[in-house]
Amino acid sequence: MQAGTDSHLNAAWARVRGRLRSELGDAAYRSWLKPLTLAGLTDGELRLSAPTRFMRDWILSHYHDQLTRFWSTEVPQVVEVSVSVEQAHSPTRPRPPRPESGGASHRSKPIPEATNGHDVALDLSAPLDPRFTFENFVTGKPNELAYAAARRVAEAKAVPFNPLYLYGGVGLGKTHLMHAIAWYIRNNQPERRIIYLSAEKFMYQFIRALRFKNTVAFKEQFRAVDVLMVDDLQFISGKESTQEEFFHTFNALVDQNRQIIISADKSPSDLEGMEERMRSRLGWGLVADIHPTTYELRLGILQAKADNLGKTMPPKVLEFLAHKIVSNVRELEGALNRIVAHADLIGRPVTLETTQEVLHDLLRANDRRVTIEEIQKRVAEHFNIKLSEMTSARRARAVARPRQVAMYLAKQLTSRSLPEIGRKFGGRDHTTVMHAVRKVEELRSTDSSFSDDVDLLRRMLEG
Ligand code: ADP
Ligand code: MG
Repeated sequence: MQAGTDSHLNAAWARVRGRLRSELGDAAYRSWLKPLTLAGLTDGELRLSAPTRFMRDWILSHYHDQLTRFWSTEVPQVVEVSVSVEQAHSPTRPRPPRPESGGASHRSKPIPEATNGHDVALDLSAPLDPRFTFENFVTGKPNELAYAAARRVAEAKAVPFNPLYLYGGVGLGKTHLMHAIAWYIRNNQPERRIIYLSAEKFMYQFIRALRFKNTVAFKEQFRAVDVLMVDDLQFISGKESTQEEFFHTFNALVDQNRQIIISADKSPSDLEGMEERMRSRLGWGLVADIHPTTYELRLGILQAKADNLGKTMPPKVLEFLAHKIVSNVRELEGALNRIVAHADLIGRPVTLETTQEVLHDLLRANDRRVTIEEIQKRVAEHFNIKLSEMTSARRARAVARPRQVAMYLAKQLTSRSLPEIGRKFGGRDHTTVMHAVRKVEELRSTDSSFSDDVDLLRRMLEG
């Protein structure tokens, strides 16, 4: 490194520190970032060093994004920021002088030294989406309990219930609420340490820690937080050792009266592949479910999103969307974005006609949301056989034919794969479903009354 580059880097480092301090607050800055020293820049890698391994891991898991962002804006050559553990006296690599000589007190603090020397960065917390705030969350009957519980946890000074367990289907706002809690706490009680991550990431980190034999550091870090949020917990269903680890972390945190917030797609008791003791523990706090959206809520969300985009939309269009797109909020948002983008692009205002045109594929998919169970029920009724015959092993023509029709319609009207359909029909093989589909097609081409029958069923199911 040349002398010129050196002072250039030092000046940049001072500015980066300034930004870190103002963005993270004095307390966090003093505890974690001030003790860092600048080690150099080579091939796009900006090297920093931390006094202990624990601090290094903590910094990487909490502040790596900011460090990288600030450094790369200050010094465009920086592609990556690495943090290593400082050598007590490094004779080989002279370091540039420190801009400040703080941080000594941190080094004398008893900080757990847990890893065995492998250079593993535990990147624990996931980034938060800036749009996922309480302000941007539209409430209605289906989500009012979950919203109230989330606010309560965010605003509380003491843990009001543990854990807070939020559950509901895909795209109904679980992740949004969790991020909102994290933002709120970050802004109002910045000294509370939060980890937010998906269960998948928890598992990934745990497996990594096992591989690099630094599970002690892994545990330390999870157990040093005030608020632990784990999203999509169902992911660790059936993953025994991860569950075990999570269970211990969970208990340790609850014992120390730290807040835990969980989300999942099912209620604790319905989480299959989850150990019984875990399921029961999960239900100890407050369990709040988010129900599927209602028309009113969908309309409210659309209005709020349109306002956020700074667009005035014809009420007819919003009503139409709220009616038609019932699956989840993510699709609703996607639809709105698409029509807005389209209108901007062609420079004409949004109308009901353009909306239908732009969204035809999405609308069709939403129209067709028929379940295999409904198909089986309708077909059984139509042919006057018992519903249980749909899954039975009987091969008599009187039940086998209707069953084949139901399989055929399942293939036509749902997006399920052949094996999935087979499973729903009493665990039949996918080749059986394929055979049924062919058989029905063949019959339709030769027997027009049969074909009319199938069409009638199809229309009933679609309507
Ligand atoms: P989940 O985690 O339950 O699958 P998300 O929280 O990711 O769902 O929500 C999907 C999308 O829908 C996000 O963009 C989120 O902001 C939005 N969303 C969901 N519910 C609401 C709501 N009540 N108000 C505003 N936006 C919402
Ligand atoms: Mg989610």
